[in-house]
Amino acid sequence: MFVSIFTSPLVQQARLQYQCKQCCRVLYSGNTVQQQQQQQRTVLGVAFWRASLQRGQLTQLVKGSSRLKMSQSNPADVKDWRALTEEDWKARLTPMQFEVARRAGTERPFTGEYWNEKRTGIYRCVCCGTPLFSSETKFDSGTGWPSFYAPLSKEAVKERRDLSHGMIRTEVLCAVCDAHLGHVFPDGPKPTGLRYCMNSYSLKFEPKESS
Ligand SMILES: [Zn+2]
Repeated sequence: MFVSIFTSPLVQQARLQYQCKQCCRVLYSGNTVQQQQQQQRTVLGVAFWRASLQRGQLTQLVKGSSRLKMSQSNPADVKDWRALTEEDWKARLTPMQFEVARRAGTERPFTGEYWNEKRTGIYRCVCCGTPLFSSETKFDSGTGWPSFYAPLSKEAVKERRDLSHGMIRTEVLCAVCDAHLGHVFPDGPKPTGLRYCMNSYSLKFEPKESS
């Protein structure tokens, strides 16, 4: 009953990707053959895609530049991050950083700067510079998003129940400036069993000097 989307003109013409709102995995794609092969195990078919879309269970991923520009944020010049207005953030961030970090958008998988980053270092909040994650807890989740099994500290991030679209998810935000970082899921590796599924556009990697 399921039809391969690879032969579907409907999806190929769309050149869009759709992710499950619950687990963040990409289920449908009109992208390159290589990416489709990577995602093949999660592809279910056009009929299911249409039905899921109608039920509001899929997120159409944000389209935009595949490369991350450096944030214009200068953490030293802001005392109260929560006092910044939307216009302030627009001036400090690139359009994609603003869309993801301040408007809870989601970058397309396998396009962000850090999903395949393997160097040693620290991942800071792209908005306020707070250290959030370490390369020590980063793992290859196969999702195309930078994934960690733990934050640098419990105080670095905060969680919020995300009940949008009839789903129960746990959103992860920067504890200092409320930037949207991604979601956390209970299917990660040991020792925590958690998968912090983050957006590259919400992060700024700082490689360790010796690496
Ligand atoms: Zn922040």
